[in-house]
Amino acid sequence: MSGRLRILLADSNTPDRELAATLLRGALPEYEIEAVGDPMALAERLLHPDLAAVVTEHALAWGSGLELTATINRLHPHCPVVLFTGVHSEEVAADAIRHGVDGYVVKGSAGYLALSAAVKEALARAERRRASSAGGEYYRTLIEEMPVGIFTLSPDGTIREASPAAASLLGVADRGALAGLSLPALLTPDSHERLRRLLAAGAAVRGIEAEVARAGAERLWVRINAWPVADVGRPVARWEGSLEDISGYKKAERQLEERAAQLSRSNAELQQFSYVISHDLQEPLHLITRYAQLLGEKYSGRIEAEAHRWLAHVLTSAARMQAMINDVLEYARVETRGQPFLFVDFAAVFADAVDNLKVSIDESGAVVTAGDLPRIPADAGQMAQVFQNLIGNAVKFRGSKAPRVQTSAVEAEDAWVFAVMDNGIGIPAEHLDRIFGMFQRLHGSSEYPGTGIGLAICKRIIERHGGQIWATSQPGEGSTFYFSIPKKSSAASEPGVSMENGGEHGRQAAARSAG
Ligand code: ADP
Repeated sequence: MSGRLRILLADSNTPDRELAATLLRGALPEYEIEAVGDPMALAERLLHPDLAAVVTEHALAWGSGLELTATINRLHPHCPVVLFTGVHSEEVAADAIRHGVDGYVVKGSAGYLALSAAVKEALARAERRRASSAGGEYYRTLIEEMPVGIFTLSPDGTIREASPAAASLLGVADRGALAGLSLPALLTPDSHERLRRLLAAGAAVRGIEAEVARAGAERLWVRINAWPVADVGRPVARWEGSLEDISGYKKAERQLEERAAQLSRSNAELQQFSYVISHDLQEPLHLITRYAQLLGEKYSGRIEAEAHRWLAHVLTSAARMQAMINDVLEYARVETRGQPFLFVDFAAVFADAVDNLKVSIDESGAVVTAGDLPRIPADAGQMAQVFQNLIGNAVKFRGSKAPRVQTSAVEAEDAWVFAVMDNGIGIPAEHLDRIFGMFQRLHGSSEYPGTGIGLAICKRIIERHGGQIWATSQPGEGSTFYFSIPKKSSAASEPGVSMENGGEHGRQAAARSAG
């Protein structure tokens, strides 16, 4: 066995057969050419599976070449047949074509020359047929097996054909039973009406989410795509489309919405709680302060020095508690007292913050400067507070060097990123995140005064603007505090617009620019 594919040549005329075989061997060396002249040999060869093509005389000694063609079509559906015949008649040629013959060559000197080309052409055509039928089969299998449902509808939305997945998504066990039903009518009333209107409009339906009613079974969410297919004179001859199960996605979406609602409820409660608590704590605290003062004044000559010291402790602690309460109130007010976002000149905001910090800046001899700062929508009062807290900290947490504080801003793709850089004591890397939490301090209040809420307020303000805040530091060298303010999507010309988030990009851009 050579392992090569075979071309069978059937002709009862020996010289013709031998000449044709010689020509074919020369032209198609990659094939085994088997020439047979009797029915027994032919019958035996026909059973072999590796048959690439058959060349046969029309008038065989034992029968007709067309009968042989019919047998071959039955046994080897993809095998092409070329009729090589001495009979030159249009009738025979037409009959041959009806029988599915792939080539018709008339014997004679021109015919012998044309035979090899005709066989090659028949082989190529058969190959194309095989490929396209394999492709068709492939797509059929894909449609049958795919979890996405495929359907064809009449122009009015009646189902003509549906894949098994479409039937199961629509809750109909037998897909034959789907034909003739209206697709919109299988949906819940809301979805039904929507799809009906879209189909009536005649434009492609792109990914609408619809709920399938599914009698007796659990309701199911599907995404529907459908596109009109036009025909001569008809813009919508039929619809073709797909159905995808998106129940899992819808469930996750619902859970997310519930969690967001829950979160915003508990946020509001927390807000209310911190507001009420801090508000209500003020009154007893006032009383403590007042009575401690009275005690000190009224009994000043009659109590021991130690008791005076204790009273002084009571008063300092009460003052510290008052400061903390004020800060908690301030924190709670970031949301409740926030103003709409109008165009803010950050250079002016910076100047205000520096003005408010004048005393500590002058006392410390700090040099506080700013680069070009933009004019962008924000809550001006809150931005002044952020600058004040950051610059105030930069001055407060100074080291032995004369404090230098540099404020700057860079424009990233979708956000402005501000930086406040100092040459102070710095922050160990492990505390860089923690310091933005409430009451998180790295030092005692006798060392550096403060309540530990300034950065938490900054964070809340920046988050209200859709941005992020973070810090980098080199202990002993200084720290840089960054915050991003996302740009709003359209041209920033209208005042009073709140912005979508975009802080992460700003953060990456700043990390790049900070090198
Ligand atoms: P406070 O300034 O009242 O302590 P903050 O919330 O403003 O509270 O800051 C929290 C802590 O972060 C500070 O106590 C300090 O330890 C650290 N910190 C903040 N800013 C700086 C800075 N510029 N340099 C060094 N440490 C800082």
